Amino acid sequence: MRVLAEEGAVEMDLGFLAEVREQCLQPIERCFHCQKCTSGCYLSEYFDYAPNQVIRLVQFGLREQVLKSASIWLCAACQTCAVRCPNGISIPEVMDVLRNMAVAAKGPVAGNARLFHGLFVGDIRRRGRVNEALLLAWYKMRTRQLLADLKEGMILLRKGKLPLVPSRVKDRKEVRRIFRRLEETKRRYIIR
Ligand code: SF4
Ligand code: SF4
Repeated sequence: MRVLAEEGAVEMDLGFLAEVREQCLQPIERCFHCQKCTSGCYLSEYFDYAPNQVIRLVQFGLREQVLKSASIWLCAACQTCAVRCPNGISIPEVMDVLRNMAVAAKGPVAGNARLFHGLFVGDIRRRGRVNEALLLAWYKMRTRQLLADLKEGMILLRKGKLPLVPSRVKDRKEVRRIFRRLEETKRRYIIR
């Protein structure tokens, strides 16, 4: 985990907080850093900035740091932090907006996050739901890391977590309509 005070001289973007707030509709300015979100986040040990630090970066207008952060891509939107926050801040909503901003800014994105999310959204767009086995296969082929995580993959397969026959939602027209609507509003950028 990184320490914000060690960042050295940084450039603050004073309009950034308002921009993020307008898009995620979360009262980010109310965060008083009690860290209830961070202490409940089961993924925070893998984050470069803890969940409350991500909020701090936004409050301070540190656009570049937060959009380059791996944390915004590692958040699994499990909602644990959202239900624990005494100020009613839904961090997954904030993360969502930050991811979209990072994609729109066309800056560096941590690891293969852009590719993974692109494949994930593409699968939803096609069939209305993700097939984990197909998603993994595409990802492995594109990254050429065919043998990485093989052991974990076998465990998932044995537990029936990687269904080999893809399913699709009945009303795919509705899925297409949702994607069209998102593109029209331009509030959310679809990762392709
Ligand atoms: S739980 Fe809410 S108020 Fe506390 S640090 Fe996290 S976002 Fe801020
Ligand atoms: S929603 Fe994201 S930040 Fe919040 S607890 Fe879950 S993984 Fe952590």
